[in-house]
Amino acid sequence: MTPVPERAERDERHRSGFVSFVGRPNVGKSTLTNALVGEKVAITSPKPQTTRRAIRGVRTSEGGQLVIVDTPGIHRPRTLLGERLNDLVSGVLVDVDVIGFCVPADERIGPGDRFIAEQLRDYPRAKKVAIVTKADKAGRGRIAEALLAVQALGDEVLGGWDEIVPVAALAGEGARSPREQAQIDELAATLIGLLPEGPPLYGDETVTEETDEDRIAELIREAALEAAEEELPHSIAVTIDDIAPRSLSERSETKGPDERPMTDVYASLWVERDSQKGIVIGKGGQRLKAIGAAARPGIEALVGTRVFLSLHVKVAKDWQRDPKLLGRLGF
Ligand code: GDP
Ligand code: MG
Repeated sequence: MTPVPERAERDERHRSGFVSFVGRPNVGKSTLTNALVGEKVAITSPKPQTTRRAIRGVRTSEGGQLVIVDTPGIHRPRTLLGERLNDLVSGVLVDVDVIGFCVPADERIGPGDRFIAEQLRDYPRAKKVAIVTKADKAGRGRIAEALLAVQALGDEVLGGWDEIVPVAALAGEGARSPREQAQIDELAATLIGLLPEGPPLYGDETVTEETDEDRIAELIREAALEAAEEELPHSIAVTIDDIAPRSLSERSETKGPDERPMTDVYASLWVERDSQKGIVIGKGGQRLKAIGAAARPGIEALVGTRVFLSLHVKVAKDWQRDPKLLGRLGF
């Protein structure tokens, strides 16, 4: 009989690598990224195609480090922006170690899901995990059906998944029950188990390599998406013009003596047409005010001071179709 090895010997070697989630818009890819990281690094929205850039979130645990690359997802492009986003996604997927294919528990698998699953054949190197998201929105029977359906799809299109797991990611701190949190932790362990052996790629404390400026711009865009109706959200881009700590003397002048540090943030919201400008500003500036009020708490949490947010709405005609403007707006 072989003796039971010491704990240290049994321990797996450290693993590290990259995972990216794919799936139709709105299935919960960005929310899952945030849940795994434990902090909001990617903005989320019920409006589809919220994510526009590849955003890296990092989860560090004892056994390994998981770098999650949240992308806009694969879709049929309608504009130059759409094409750039697709190129960006395939550029990410060729390099990742694991691809998580997401389908929501509360919806049937459709042609859109199948289209995306089929694209995954182009990335033979990556391990492939099917993830049934939004498990909190479906009963046990429905979740079981969803797991079977996604299994059948994987068998047919890809010769099977490496793993199939259900999760409820739910936005917001404290929103997950202990059981749901355990599911997230289990998913993390599953994903880390599929990574190659290797040293950590980022320091312990790193949750993202996004700059504060990028994260602030995204928080403002998220608030604008929330406030704006219908097709308008796709037309909005946000740039940061300046971020500056306000000096004590300036603080005293404006609001009487208040010693608490304050940061001034100047940002531009770009829309494609003059008519959209009015919509974003709203009657008497009401909507723009609401956008600022919605974005501020997240920005204050990020920079760690009170924030004065100055938002300006500007028009960049048809920026989604103009290569130069796309470049200027960061695409
Ligand atoms: P993405 O387009 O795939 O990145 O989707 P998002 O992460 O932006 O999520 C789309 C919407 O679904 C948002 O309104 C989220 O709050 C919601 N959502 C995401 N994950 C869950 C979940 O696990 N449970 C519930 N109930 N809602 C979720
Ligand atoms: Mg997203």
